[in-house]
Amino acid sequence: MAVHDLVGESERLGQALVPIAEGRAHRRVNRELLGAIASAGLLERLFADHGVSATDLCRIRQGLARVCTEAETAFAVQGLGGIPIHLSENENIKARWMPAIRSGEAVAAFALTEPGAGSDAANLMMSAEADGDGYRLSGEKTYISNAPDADVATVFARTTENAGHRGITAFVVPTSLDGITGESIEMISLHALGRWMFDGVYVPADHVLGEVDHGFTVAMQTLDLFRPSVGAFALGMAEAALQIAVEHAASREAFGTPISEFQGVSHQLADVRVAIAAAEHLIYSAAETYDSGDRQSLTGKSAMAKLHATETAQKAVDVAIQVLGARGLEADSTLAHLYREVRAPRIYEGTSEIQRNIIAREMFRGRL
Ligand SMILES: Cc1cc2nc3c(=O)[nH]c(=O)nc-3n(C[C@H](O)[C@H](O)[C@H](O)COP(=O)(O)OP(=O)(O)OC[C@H]3O[C@@H](n4cnc5c(N)ncnc54)[C@H](O)[C@@H]3O)c2cc1C
Repeated sequence: MAVHDLVGESERLGQALVPIAEGRAHRRVNRELLGAIASAGLLERLFADHGVSATDLCRIRQGLARVCTEAETAFAVQGLGGIPIHLSENENIKARWMPAIRSGEAVAAFALTEPGAGSDAANLMMSAEADGDGYRLSGEKTYISNAPDADVATVFARTTENAGHRGITAFVVPTSLDGITGESIEMISLHALGRWMFDGVYVPADHVLGEVDHGFTVAMQTLDLFRPSVGAFALGMAEAALQIAVEHAASREAFGTPISEFQGVSHQLADVRVAIAAAEHLIYSAAETYDSGDRQSLTGKSAMAKLHATETAQKAVDVAIQVLGARGLEADSTLAHLYREVRAPRIYEGTSEIQRNIIAREMFRGRL
């Protein structure tokens, strides 16, 4: 499919995935849904042999998000967990895992956050102690998408004490290894998420991604790629909410006239329309920056895209509910669903406050 069709094509695919997404045991990995996403060719497109296209990633996420947030999230988290492996130079690990990740048979996860280290990820405490020809991992990872069901995770652990972000290493960890236990955490959205406890889990040295003590770079490079696409997820939700609100405002009458005639209504929608257009621009500008290979301004642009798009989506869904009145709050309505879904992207992959910190830092460094 041509790039310019990709948003619309993903939207059509998303529509077809709705029946598989609905009616499942929520908050756990939906393997049938991931399999259908793979069969539709979306994972193959993401994990392309020639590398990764951030623009494709954003377009797919935007299209899916308009109609099926469950499919969007299943696709995105598989990407987040798989990309560090896909982009690594560890050919053995790639050969072992990428075919299964690309086909959706193996579910992937990205495990950075710990109970004591969220925003301050460089302060993570999970230990990786050298043991013969490998490492023993001990500690806890929490709020990890696709945990505890995922089959393989990119896990970040400390190989050097008191070295901050310089002492962290990225490991590819099959979750069937001895010493790993896990449980699901119920969030307000349908997001499949949980925690893993690692009790002296032996991981061979050839499961390291990149260089020992340089895993934080792996994490940050992954986030630079994914942050604009979190924005694209938010953008798709914002567009869906706005469309519902515009259609409703044009047909709903009060005081003898369509409510779209009231500036109190139409100006709110106009403001959302402008914010969506700005979000789209920031997202695809950041994605093009990634695809061009320019790493100088990428971090700042990725942060701007995520910040603006996720804040816009929150506003768009809130305004849409206001415009629909009570109808927008019916429990099984699309807007109520979006209201639950739209909150988390302002927190994960760096909160809005952390994005502002990054933007300010990059600006003062002269990179923005
Ligand atoms: C649905 C969902 C899915 C997730 N999936 C994953 C996943 O797959 N993998 C993974 O590793 N993690 C995942 N996370 C975890 C997520 O990345 C963290 O929740 C996030 O980084 C924030 O960390 P925290 O929740 O510990 O908040 P904290 O770091 O405790 O922050 C609390 C508050 O303090 C603010 N704050 C902290 N430091 C600063 C500062 N320097 N300046 C200004 N404000 C600050 C924050 O912005 C926030 O408002 C997920 C979270 C959610 C909700």
